[in-house]
Amino acid sequence: MNPFQLTTSIIVVVVLGVFSLKVRIVNITGFIAAEIVGSIILILGNAEWFIVLLAFYFTAGLFTKYKYEYKKRIGAAEEKGGARGWKNVVANGLVASLLAMGYGLVASNIFSAGLLGAISTSAADTLATEIGLLYPRQPRLITNLNKNVEPGTSGGVSPLGEIANLFGGTLIGLVAWIVGFSGFTLQKILTITIISGFLGSTFDSLLGAWIQATFRCPVCNKITEKTTHCEKTCKLIKGNKIFDNNVVNTISTIFGATIATMIFLTI
Ligand SMILES: [Zn+2]
Repeated sequence: MNPFQLTTSIIVVVVLGVFSLKVRIVNITGFIAAEIVGSIILILGNAEWFIVLLAFYFTAGLFTKYKYEYKKRIGAAEEKGGARGWKNVVANGLVASLLAMGYGLVASNIFSAGLLGAISTSAADTLATEIGLLYPRQPRLITNLNKNVEPGTSGGVSPLGEIANLFGGTLIGLVAWIVGFSGFTLQKILTITIISGFLGSTFDSLLGAWIQATFRCPVCNKITEKTTHCEKTCKLIKGNKIFDNNVVNTISTIFGATIATMIFLTI
């Protein structure tokens, strides 16, 4: 990358970051984390990777805000108007950043496939949650489909959430194809993104049901996966507090990236 490209890249990352801060996709800590992740992806990875990352970032931001008041009423909205903090940005960007570092050393398509898997998992999982919350009936627990759970419960699944999950992987695949992702064919891209996104997001739900920390809000008594609710610290009632939503998301993106590289090597 020459000095002109480097300067342009930094300007692009800063402008998009400031915009996303203005429209409250992220708060100030999320903004700083997004600047770091965005720079690593664009400078060590490449422009195609960066556009795929942006497709996830802005779609996730949009759907987090979609029908926000309704999600807030049922007690399942992201806190603070849906502006994501640094932990959420790192949870969705860490694996992608590590893959970009790998790609910076050896420009192999195996890293590109891994990136598609990590971002598809984040997109599938975020959209399954944010769109799935609009399902008019109660979700079921993924490990026991006879059991109804409150909307927003870790491990809860619904038909609408599953459609949104597949939509997430498809969207990432289509964007990757449009930008001419490292010469992959459309069929290969969609096979990677839909399957790895679906399996990564399903793995996230399973971890959600098995080990993820579940809390109770001391104010409204809601069961939540968030450590704070109604602006108060919640009480742990189930799972391990190390495995909060962000840690579970990070583990799931590793899983999704692994699935994607396995598909890449197989087909
Ligand atoms: Zn509450």
